[in-house]
Amino acid sequence: MMQVGIVGAGPAGMMAALQAAAQGARVTLYDTNRTVGRKLLVTGNGRCNLTNSSVTAARYATTDPAFLETVLGRFGRMELIAALQELGIPTYATVDGWYYPLSNSAAAVVEAFAAALDQSGVELCLQTKISDIRPGVEGFVLEVGGPSHAHPVQRVIVAAGGKAYPSLGSRGECFPLLERMGHTIVPVRPALAPIRAQVKQFHKLQGVRLDVGLALYKGDQKLGETVGNLMFTQFGFSGPAAMDLSHLVSAHLGGGDLCLTLDLIPRHLPELRQLIARKRSQPIPLSVALGAVLPVKIPPVFQGLAGLPAGIRLSQVADQDLERLLGLLTGISVEVKGTRGFQFSQVSTGGVPITEVDPQSMESRRVRGLYLVGEVLDVVGPCGGYNLQFAFTSGALAGMAAGGGE
Ligand SMILES: Cc1cc2nc3c(=O)[nH]c(=O)nc-3n(C[C@H](O)[C@H](O)[C@H](O)COP(=O)(O)OP(=O)(O)OC[C@H]3O[C@@H](n4cnc5c(N)ncnc54)[C@H](O)[C@@H]3O)c2cc1C
Repeated sequence: MMQVGIVGAGPAGMMAALQAAAQGARVTLYDTNRTVGRKLLVTGNGRCNLTNSSVTAARYATTDPAFLETVLGRFGRMELIAALQELGIPTYATVDGWYYPLSNSAAAVVEAFAAALDQSGVELCLQTKISDIRPGVEGFVLEVGGPSHAHPVQRVIVAAGGKAYPSLGSRGECFPLLERMGHTIVPVRPALAPIRAQVKQFHKLQGVRLDVGLALYKGDQKLGETVGNLMFTQFGFSGPAAMDLSHLVSAHLGGGDLCLTLDLIPRHLPELRQLIARKRSQPIPLSVALGAVLPVKIPPVFQGLAGLPAGIRLSQVADQDLERLLGLLTGISVEVKGTRGFQFSQVSTGGVPITEVDPQSMESRRVRGLYLVGEVLDVVGPCGGYNLQFAFTSGALAGMAAGGGE
């Protein structure tokens, strides 16, 4: 019987364990935490955003989209939904295509995985840190805190996560081990993190959320852009739109000159212009006209930035002042200082390049019998369930391959 050791009981490791056990392998799952799925438990604000109807290779930031096409072609959204259903986790999608468990409970998802691991006979070694992975007689030896606690296994799946949110268990401690085994480690940086920016002028907007168009520039070069929900915060910006660009902030920080441009009316500018044209000569407050498409706290702040008094009426505003105000609302530029770091990031970029694993099996191209999955690999998706999809996808493929008997 194939003996498989799995380092890390996050979504990637748990899925790998279930698939390997289903192949008839004897599976041991190690984690430093007291419980399995510690990070999974806090995903989606406790609701667990499992995948997305728009999952395709193109949505991920990666050096090799063809790799992702292959892995998603083998175990994509439909396969994940079917596997979750089988585990007793039925799902539904929001109108935006974000998938959640019907229970809306990440805790219920973790419990279902824990029950399935138990039922599959997977041996759990919790509060157990794997400190080294060495070649052994029949494969590998996993060291637990020192050579005196050596666990021999034939195949190893490293599902130890990246460096994001270190308080939940993943601190990047396996990267030096993998480097010693011959793998490249692309610098690991925060991604899906809130962005720190020069937002003194927006202090009255803290907590305001709205859909925006957001573009990140280094000097004149546009590094990326997105449309999505944004929240003004004390430090800068949070919400999916800011977080989706944060990996680019991490990668291009240093040397200054990074800025975000915000379009606060990405979808309804034509309607606003029509409304203004209709009411142009009427003495309604300018803030009321702008309030037709913007949260109520935004117009006074932006009128102030444009040098227009709070109570000014639409009929009193000069054409060039109105255009200047609309220009600010659709393209204000804000200096970027960085991200809020690993402590506040949902994932990390960097790690082992995907070109160093086989997309059919997730087996290392450098070390036979070693499999790498989830956030250990240099793949990052946007907010919306893409990262859990990749963790489950890569875990499933590795589990099927490592658990098989050849
Ligand atoms: C607050 C938050 C919200 C999120 N929400 C979503 C969401 O809604 N949808 C989504 O798609 N993604 C979300 N993510 C991202 C998602 O959680 C990750 O992409 C996913 O957990 C990665 O899975 P993984 O199994 O690769 O790693 P992890 O979940 O990090 O699991 C790795 C495990 O390995 C263990 N480990 C590490 N080193 C060792 C060692 N040496 N020995 C033993 N054990 C070890 C760790 O303790 C950890 O439990 C969120 C992340 C955070 C932080």
